[in-house]
Amino acid sequence: MGQFAVIGLGRFGSATSLELMKMGHSVLGIDTDGKIVDKYADQLTHAVIADVTDHAALEELGLNSYDVVLVAIGEDIQASLLCVVHLKTLGVKTLWVKASSHAQHLILNKLGVTRIVHPEEEMGIRVAQALSYPMVNDYISIGNGEFVVEIMVNDHLEGLPLSQIMQGQPESIHVLLIKRKTQVTVHPGNDFILQAKDILVMLGQLGTLKTIAPKLI
Ligand code: ATP
Repeated sequence: MGQFAVIGLGRFGSATSLELMKMGHSVLGIDTDGKIVDKYADQLTHAVIADVTDHAALEELGLNSYDVVLVAIGEDIQASLLCVVHLKTLGVKTLWVKASSHAQHLILNKLGVTRIVHPEEEMGIRVAQALSYPMVNDYISIGNGEFVVEIMVNDHLEGLPLSQIMQGQPESIHVLLIKRKTQVTVHPGNDFILQAKDILVMLGQLGTLKTIAPKLI
């Protein structure tokens, strides 16, 4: 279980905090707005009112003992940057920051934060991918153009062996596992008989995965 602190409980900060809680982590939520803190007080491990532009207030929170601090302040770029400078001074090592502009990204880069997040752009890319490949439930980029994708098998492929689906496909595509309701088959053999709604988790280059995805729908 990780210990996370999320500064700014707007839409992005609150959604991230609640998802971390669902995953079993501990989350400290921080915001200047008392109404917002009240709203999330019962749903987070701790929720406190603090102005993070105030160095002394931040110091009191002991944020350098957390695994990751996420600064999720959007509109007020000055407050976000000042907070980052304070957190760096206080010795916070792993710092993720939401950026709203190119200029803010450049400054955050110079300040040496761990990761700069652009939620709107990242979500835009995911939505575009989902629109182009609606058969792909989910995907993770693992670098060098390699992706792990999750694709649901369509009804008309029921009863076919995996070998038939994979026939003619490059060897660089690997079926890592098949999920069927609660059952998981790791490294399924070629004779694995598919059922509708099975979920294939595959690894490969994006280009090659794009050719196999339409065969499954
Ligand atoms: P979102 O799109 O995620 O809703 P946003 O980009 O509109 O957010 P803001 O609403 O500007 O971002 O900020 C997110 C939260 O950060 C707000 O709830 C706001 O009260 C809080 N916040 C802003 N400044 C500070 C500060 N100095 N200290 C603590 N919290 C702050």
